[in-house]
Amino acid sequence: MSHKIAVLPGDGIGPEIIEQAVRVLQVLELPLELETAPVGGAAYEASGHPLPEATLNLAKAADAVLFGAVGDWKYDKLDRPLRPEQAILGLRKHLGLFANLRPALCYAELTHASSLKPELVAGLDILIIRELTGDIYFGQPRGRRTATDGHFPGAEEAFDTMRYSRPEIERIAHVAFQAARRRRGKLTSVDKANVLETFQFWKDVVTEVHAQYPDVQLDHLYVDNAAMQLVKAPKAFDVIVTGNMFGDILSDEAAMLTGSIGMLPSASLDRDNKGLYEPSHGSAPDIAGQGVANPLATILSAAMMLRYTLQQAEAADRIESAVQQVLAAGLRTGDIWSEGCRRVGTREMGDAVVQAVKAGTSKTTTQS
Ligand code: NAD
Repeated sequence: MSHKIAVLPGDGIGPEIIEQAVRVLQVLELPLELETAPVGGAAYEASGHPLPEATLNLAKAADAVLFGAVGDWKYDKLDRPLRPEQAILGLRKHLGLFANLRPALCYAELTHASSLKPELVAGLDILIIRELTGDIYFGQPRGRRTATDGHFPGAEEAFDTMRYSRPEIERIAHVAFQAARRRRGKLTSVDKANVLETFQFWKDVVTEVHAQYPDVQLDHLYVDNAAMQLVKAPKAFDVIVTGNMFGDILSDEAAMLTGSIGMLPSASLDRDNKGLYEPSHGSAPDIAGQGVANPLATILSAAMMLRYTLQQAEAADRIESAVQQVLAAGLRTGDIWSEGCRRVGTREMGDAVVQAVKAGTSKTTTQS
C-alpha cells in the first residue's frame, strides 16, 4: 500500500531544504506518492490566501505532510488572517494536530556549536512535547478595546485569553507519558501554577493522568525555573511536556543548546499519529536563495515522518544514520561550520546524505 505525502515547501529557504528531503526519501524506494502544493506567502502570491482550499484538502487527504517553512517580513503588513504564518495555525487546527514533538539532540560532532560548555551538552537527548492547539494562542475572546478597569481605565488596551480544558490536557499528557515510557521514563511537566489558574488546572490534570503511568517518574517545574534548568543542567531532562506558549519558547531555547536550529526536526501529531513534519526553524529570509541553508532538520523531519506516521522505523534509522555519517565525515553548512570542517551548501549536504543513505545499511541511532 502506498502512502500519500503532501509536500508543502512554503517560503524563503523552504523550497531549497524540502528539495533535499524529497531526494533522500526518493532514494529509499518506498511506496510513497508525493504531491506538492503552495503554502504561506507563496500561496498568497498565487491565490490570495496562505492556506488555499486545494492545499488544505491535499493535506487532509494525505497520510502525512512534509512542510518546509513559511513567512517573510514583506508580509508583516498584511491583515493577520492573510499572513503566511496563519497557514501553519490553520493546518494544525484543521488536521487536529495537538501534539508537537521536538527532539533536542546534541550530536557529538557539534558540541562546539552550542552556546553552552561541551560537557553540559555532549550526548544531550531530550524531547519537548508542546501542546499545539490550545492556550493563549487560540483562546477567545481576544482583541483591542477601551479599558473599563485596571491601572488605566479609559485607555486603549489589548487582551488575549489563556484557557485549557480537561480533555486537552489529558490527551497531551497521555502522549507525553507514553513517550517517556519509550525513553528513559522521566517526565517533567512545566507550568506556572503559582500565578495562573489555567496552569494550576494543568498541573492537577497531569498529576491525575500520572496514576495510569506509575512506571514513569513525574516532576513539575515552573516555567521560569525550567528555562533556567535548561541552560544549567539540560541533560537532567528526558521528556518535557508543557502548554502552547511555554512550549514555543522552551523548545527554541532547547534548540539553541544543540548548536543550530538548522539541525532540529519536529513532528505535530493528531490522535492517530497522522502528522505534519517540519524543521523547527523558520523560513530564514536572510539566507533564502543563496543555497547555504542547512537541510538536515528537514531531512530528519522526513525521518520522523517515516518513524511516527508511516511505521517505517528501519528507513528512519537509515536516514538518521546517514546524517550522523555525513557529520562525522566533517561536512558542515555555514550555521554549524567550525575550523577544520568542510563548508558545503544545501545541495551538497543533500547529495552527501543521499549517497550515505544509498550506501548505508540501517544502524540504530539515538531515537526520540
Ligand atoms: P528563522 O528560524 O527563520 O531564522 C532565525 C535565524 O536562523 C536566521 O539567522 C536564519 O538564517 C537561521 N536559520 C534558520 N534556519 C536555518 C537553516 N536551515 N540553515 C541555516 N540557518 C538557518 O526565524 P526568524 O528569522 O525569526 O523568522 C523568519 C520568518 O520565518 C518569519 O517570517 C517568521 O514568521 C517565520 N517563521 C516560520 C516558521 C514556520 O514556518 N514553521 C517558524 C518560525 C518562524
